[in-house]
Amino acid sequence: MSAPRNHYLITCEHGGNRVPEAYRALFAGHEELLATHRGWDPGALTLARDLARALDAPLYYATVSRLVIDLNRSIGHPRLYGEATRGAPRALRREILARHYMPYRTRVERHIRGAVADGRRVVHVSTHSFTPVLNGQVRQADVGLLYDPARPAEAALARLSQGALKSSAQELRVRRNYPYSGRSDGFTAYLRRCFPATAYAGIELEINQKQVSSGRETWRELKARLIAALMEVLTRQESA
Ligand SMILES: [Zn+2]
Repeated sequence: MSAPRNHYLITCEHGGNRVPEAYRALFAGHEELLATHRGWDPGALTLARDLARALDAPLYYATVSRLVIDLNRSIGHPRLYGEATRGAPRALRREILARHYMPYRTRVERHIRGAVADGRRVVHVSTHSFTPVLNGQVRQADVGLLYDPARPAEAALARLSQGALKSSAQELRVRRNYPYSGRSDGFTAYLRRCFPATAYAGIELEINQKQVSSGRETWRELKARLIAALMEVLTRQESA
């Protein structure tokens, strides 16, 4: 029996820093914070779009700021809501959850469920970007691949992608499970609990924002390299 065919899925949870009209008043005094890495992931959405196009994969993304509600946090996580919305009345927080969190998370989960029911193996890439310096600490990577080491398909995908990227650009610092652990709370971590390792592989692709802001040419080149490396690894897996 042949291995199940891959079904690719791209998502971007932190694609913008938009605040819906209904919640603007809560953000008075938080305008500067919204513009920082705390408000969104610069570059993540353009990468997601390019990757989805290259893989001919569906793309789900959000442009509402993570400071309204963080789509990459589970319900009950202390940072599900941001500074401005955390202290809002309970009814308002529930409304934000119902309008801006549940529809996104449910749509993606349902999409995966459908592909899995069709006998496909879902390869989910969730794109993010991270700030070059956090709390005075310089981050020592240009690209991070986050995954769960206990899931063999994810571990292989991360290792092979790291190798492919390194061979296309030796100066690029590519690290696995850095600057965060792939097992900490996130959308992929949640989805792993919904689907077995044989049916679902979720990788978070983290880009250093220094790369995004370093000039159009550098950023375009990195995107092209990332996409080429991922395509190479995924198509090799398909033909194996
Ligand atoms: Zn992010």
